[in-house]
Amino acid sequence: MKKMLALSLAMLLAFSAFSCAAKAEEKKVAVSFYPIYILSMNVFQGIGDIELDIMTAPETGCLHDYQLLAGDMMKLADADALIVCGAGMEPYLQDVKEQFPDLKIIDCSAGIDLIVETHTEDGTEEEEVNAHTWLDAQNAAQIVGTIAESAAALFPEDAEQIGKNADEYREKLQALDAEIKTMLAPIRGEKIVTFHEAFPYFARAYGLEIAAVMNEEHEDTLSPAKLYEVIEKVKAAGSPPLFTEPQYSDAAAYAVSAETGAPIFALDPLASGETTPDAYEKGMLENAETLLRAFGQ
Ligand SMILES: [Zn+2]
Repeated sequence: MKKMLALSLAMLLAFSAFSCAAKAEEKKVAVSFYPIYILSMNVFQGIGDIELDIMTAPETGCLHDYQLLAGDMMKLADADALIVCGAGMEPYLQDVKEQFPDLKIIDCSAGIDLIVETHTEDGTEEEEVNAHTWLDAQNAAQIVGTIAESAAALFPEDAEQIGKNADEYREKLQALDAEIKTMLAPIRGEKIVTFHEAFPYFARAYGLEIAAVMNEEHEDTLSPAKLYEVIEKVKAAGSPPLFTEPQYSDAAAYAVSAETGAPIFALDPLASGETTPDAYEKGMLENAETLLRAFGQ
């Protein structure tokens, strides 16, 4: 930052010789992927001299097996900061830190009560942190606080506007959280089956139980053995509704439904979508409405 400031000053001095309207160098903030980008948009709204850039295309979805592309790296070359979801969502983070040791990383998993899951892979038990933190509106408010605090320290001249934006958005997110809790009160304790392991934070926050996950390992297709295992779990849970996700094929859900009679709906993990500031609130409410419909409410 000191280096950047010194550089900006040097440029200002150089340019001022030619023009009185010389402008300070633009500040750039990169964001790793869609949901964190939507939350960040709200924090930086109306701040003209900070350019916010989404590193991966908005339709990318979760970054579980994502490999960095040359274009992604180029976006980082002149960025002041990179905002990441953290909690393991960005598998390439170590590479980025090595390539750009001076890049400020803002880790949005800070201060979140992370969910640790146990998976059995090839007979051995592995513990893994679940990275889908943003699907609890309280966590989203926490993430907004983390972004705002780090950004205000990085760009003190914009700190006031950043703080004001964050306060306003956090208030909206708190109201959203209360609204979803009220909406979903009638289906508290109900079981759901999700496509990938995106909803544990949502389930914990809004009182649902995830009876099974169809595709835990982000496979392209489920093996017959895995499909059988899911079908058994769904039957044991009394065939609760199955939820597909717009980012993935729904073939597995239809196969499980054919065997169990479980109805099919779609939940959006909000890992991709339209880049509008209210996209998070809209998506969370749509999910809540879908859940009510799935349980005949
Ligand atoms: Zn995911």
